[in-house]
Amino acid sequence: MTALSGKQPSLQERHYPFMPSKEELKAKVCLEIDKRSSEIIEMAKNIGENPETGFREVKTARLVAEKFAALGLTYGDGLALTGVKAVLPCTGEGPTVAVLGELDSLIVPDHPLADPKTGAAHACGHHGQIGMLIGSAIGILGARIADYLSGRIVFMAVPAEEYIEIGFRDELRKSGKITYLAGKQELIKLGQFDDIDMAMMTHSLSIPGDKKIVVGGTSNGMVAKQVRFIGRSAHAGSSPHQGINALNAAMIALNAINSQRETFRDQDAIRVHPIITRGGETVNIVPADVRMETYVRGRTMNAIQSANGKVDRCLRAGALAVGGKVGITTLPGYSPMMNNEILQDVYYKNAVLLLGESAIIQSYGHMAGSTDMGDVSQIMPAIHSYAGGTSGITHGNDFLIRDYEQAVLVPAKIMAMTVIDLLADGAAKAREIKENSTPLLSKEQYISSMNGLLREAEYAD
Ligand SMILES: [Zn+2]
Ligand SMILES: [Zn+2]
Repeated sequence: MTALSGKQPSLQERHYPFMPSKEELKAKVCLEIDKRSSEIIEMAKNIGENPETGFREVKTARLVAEKFAALGLTYGDGLALTGVKAVLPCTGEGPTVAVLGELDSLIVPDHPLADPKTGAAHACGHHGQIGMLIGSAIGILGARIADYLSGRIVFMAVPAEEYIEIGFRDELRKSGKITYLAGKQELIKLGQFDDIDMAMMTHSLSIPGDKKIVVGGTSNGMVAKQVRFIGRSAHAGSSPHQGINALNAAMIALNAINSQRETFRDQDAIRVHPIITRGGETVNIVPADVRMETYVRGRTMNAIQSANGKVDRCLRAGALAVGGKVGITTLPGYSPMMNNEILQDVYYKNAVLLLGESAIIQSYGHMAGSTDMGDVSQIMPAIHSYAGGTSGITHGNDFLIRDYEQAVLVPAKIMAMTVIDLLADGAAKAREIKENSTPLLSKEQYISSMNGLLREAEYAD
């Protein structure tokens, strides 16, 4: 007969008798974020007032690097031109969890916070994301919780999520400065995701009603296209018959693309939305060099490829009609987003802990926009959630963060709490996610599929 009764202490309790619970760690982190809330909000606002577009986020990256240094984090910068990545090793061994934030802005010249010289403006709320990233780093480091976790935490500010200024970026590609036109794609290729096992981020969004966080859902993938119609210049008044009008070729192509829309199936969520980036030189010359950019988005890569073939046909039809030429560069765009269910569930439960169930939308269904977080989600467990606290139309000239507590501090807390759930208890949850998730593609398969999408061709009649 034994005198011992009751529960035996666990291995962890014997080795770390004063190990705080996950709930205690979460409370400490949230307290730290609250204590330094004005510093975090100030940083987000500062970036909001100093917008920079993708691969040009020099000042924004410097601010992030300075903050990482002040937190005592070891970091690398200049990654994919402007990315900044800090690594925090925890006490025990375990997987590496990354928290990401996007550095870049859009170009919306009539936005109230637009840069007067460049027209750059944060009309997608990425300044809030950097606030969240720094907020979660401040919470985790300030509360000194890494001693109780296993694995590593990566805080990474990533460049160029908005797939814009395609001409400028394609020049960067041609000069060998980048291989792909978006930040996370380029970081994957450069090996900056090689030491990461799973990744999360939260994006700003205009969320309808009184909801505050959206988790789940899928989003479109896409290819991007740069198109150049080549004609012949001539006097527009006295001798247009000697010219070949490249603008007319472009307009015929646009109409031809519009004629395809009835063939796009609803379930494929195809979006084709070209813009003309150059329409001619002077009004008295027949336009000889007209340029367009477009995406072809869709729910699956097969649907995208099918629609892309139709778009190419239409572009060639424009050139054929006027007797000109068309150069078409098709660039690998984004992969469809797939949220990892287990990781998402951890995030969701922390959102519920902070805000209650009624404030969360658990699945938004399919979104026809695209993100290069989709690319990350092809090669590792990843989640891309959304936080409210904004007003106006996303990508519109009225999109603003109105409530920084909701848009920045709350998601910073949720992500820091999620890191705790993943890496506490010897990183049991992170290990479970790794063991139960098979990425759709290896990094090598991803790179080869990206390279397979690149096409450069010139067509004449
Ligand atoms: Zn955007
Ligand atoms: Zn965005």
